[in-house]
Amino acid sequence: MKNKTVLITGGASGIGLAMVQLFAFKETKVYFIDINPEIGEKVAQDERSKGFDVTFLCGSVSDPAEIELLIQSIPGKIDTLINNAGVSHVGKVETTSSEDFDRVFQVNVKGMFNCIKAALPKLKENGGGSILNMASVAATIGIPDRFAYSMTKGAALSMTLSVARDYVADGIRCNCLSPGRVHTPFVDGFIAKNYPGQEKEMFEKLAATQPIGRMATPVEIAELAYFVSAETGSFMTGTNIPIDGGFLGLKM
Ligand code: NAD
Repeated sequence: MKNKTVLITGGASGIGLAMVQLFAFKETKVYFIDINPEIGEKVAQDERSKGFDVTFLCGSVSDPAEIELLIQSIPGKIDTLINNAGVSHVGKVETTSSEDFDRVFQVNVKGMFNCIKAALPKLKENGGGSILNMASVAATIGIPDRFAYSMTKGAALSMTLSVARDYVADGIRCNCLSPGRVHTPFVDGFIAKNYPGQEKEMFEKLAATQPIGRMATPVEIAELAYFVSAETGSFMTGTNIPIDGGFLGLKM
């Protein structure tokens, strides 16, 4: 993807950060959106100090007007949009408030919709391109205590299929990734908040739920995102690609 343009959401941390770093290393022109201004600017500066072309755009994917302005500020075409920004919530129906429900949907579903809608003109201007959405194994299997989060990932999967269908004639491919557990601040924050004092045991317990015996690294997910987005993925559209250490396929 040398000299192509990628837009990545949630690029200041975890999987999104690994994507920013990998695409930059491959000499792709990288724009990334995040709500975290200090870390976002530091990530961009670190990459630019290595000679890479990386620009941070500060904003929330949940705000359609802000996203429209940020995406319009990108000069020229976009080849690839990666909708990675996401937030989690732990709870069953009874322990999910209406506010929790809205918050998770605003980022994980509405945010994805806002970015696709704003980026489509630039993808069309490009004569086509790739949209990659971040789903999860939670989209297709019942994970305990992840009611609202799992629903948002199910929506990411069906959004992927709809967009793939509606824009295939425009040369726009749309796919989603379904990772199992990936060791990122997302997971560390979840453990610290829900299991204080038992961090080490919980980390090992969660890692052991992956048949392969460990969590993925963010780089492993970024490598797959690069493969799907680049010419190597040119025959892929409307697919949900698991990357889960055997979680879905190998029943324990
Ligand atoms: P992370 O918390 O490390 O990073 C998420 C990034 O998104 C952060 O930089 C955060 O500031 C940003 N963000 C949050 N809300 C935003 C908003 N409204 N607008 C813009 N940016 C926003 O998380 P991660 O583990 O790297 O997860 C990335 C994606 O992968 C998420 O969609 C998550 O659901 C998905 N996922 C993660 C795992 C896992 O085990 N870590 C597994 C499956 C799927």
